[in-house]
Amino acid sequence: MKITIEKAAPSELKAKPDENNLGFGKYFTDHMLQMDYVDGAWQNGEIKKYGPFSMDPAAMALHYGQTIFEGMKAYRGKDNKIYLFRPKENLARFNRSARRMCMAEVDIDLVYEGIRKLLEVDQEWVPSAQGATLYIRPTMIATEAALGVRPSKRYIFFTIMCPVGAYYPEGFNPVKIFVTDKYVRAVRGGVGEAKTGGNYAASIMAAIEAQKQGFTQVLWLDACDRQTIEEVGTMNIFFVIGDELITPPLLGSILPGITRDSVITLTRDWGFKVVERPITIDEVFAANAKGQLKEVFGTGTAAIISPVGSLHFKGQECLINNGKTGELSQRLFDDLQAIQYGYKEDPYGWVETI
Ligand SMILES: *Cc1c(COP(=O)(O)O)cnc(C)c1O
Repeated sequence: MKITIEKAAPSELKAKPDENNLGFGKYFTDHMLQMDYVDGAWQNGEIKKYGPFSMDPAAMALHYGQTIFEGMKAYRGKDNKIYLFRPKENLARFNRSARRMCMAEVDIDLVYEGIRKLLEVDQEWVPSAQGATLYIRPTMIATEAALGVRPSKRYIFFTIMCPVGAYYPEGFNPVKIFVTDKYVRAVRGGVGEAKTGGNYAASIMAAIEAQKQGFTQVLWLDACDRQTIEEVGTMNIFFVIGDELITPPLLGSILPGITRDSVITLTRDWGFKVVERPITIDEVFAANAKGQLKEVFGTGTAAIISPVGSLHFKGQECLINNGKTGELSQRLFDDLQAIQYGYKEDPYGWVETI
């Protein structure tokens, strides 16, 4: 199997957006990678001009939601080289999502080669502005034209890329979080640990209601007890209580974040006691009342680290570190960013160069 490249004509190339005003997911590069799965086999991949593809209105993804995706970034270092952070972890997780959704798995090495080639073709799209990156979105959708709830026999795998600025409109500032016990994101035994479209569609209403009340994001609780903490928005969550760093364990309803894993590795190496265990919202409020809650932060590829300034639950507010960014949050943000941009030596073998 191979990947062919057919570049857009110079006259078809888009004007690059202003690097200091990128937002998130608004602009797309000139090319995309596409690979089709037909009759039990992946066909040759192609890198071609970014653009729409046609689909049958009966395409199964449109009806029953067999869709999965990944999110990773390319970073431009001061040396002008382009860096990727743990990209094969993203592709391994992509295949785990595919298995959970009964979709075709991809050849990780081939897809990785395709993404590297796509990055080479569109390398001028990797921004140099501070904090800006090129977001990479590998995706797979079921395209067999048939109604009936069963696995599709056809899929399209594609990868699109967009230059992005800082994820949160507030920048690296602590966010106000609404803890919902009305809505849930996922349930154990469901598909919460897969990056599949329906999880995000299901989360929109809670996010909108929170935003209407002036909050940036929602903190999700366990679907059954509405007490045990799961995730924050589309990020994993960490709490510094006393001298411990605590994060919920991966029991099926939580997305196994690569940033989460990197944070656990780094903080253990820095001598922190890191514990993966269930933690309830009542425990967090109680720790805060005793003055033991020092920091709360979310982790994810988009924001890297997102400090939480306050949590609101049942009309009560839990103000964290006086609403300021904590020491560990700042250190993790600086350190992870330094590794991702190649500013600093990477002792973990996490970084790949294009
Ligand atoms: C992608 C995602 C994360 C973070 O994963 P990273 O690999 O760190 O980017 C966390 N939670 C949800 C729901 C996600 O979709």
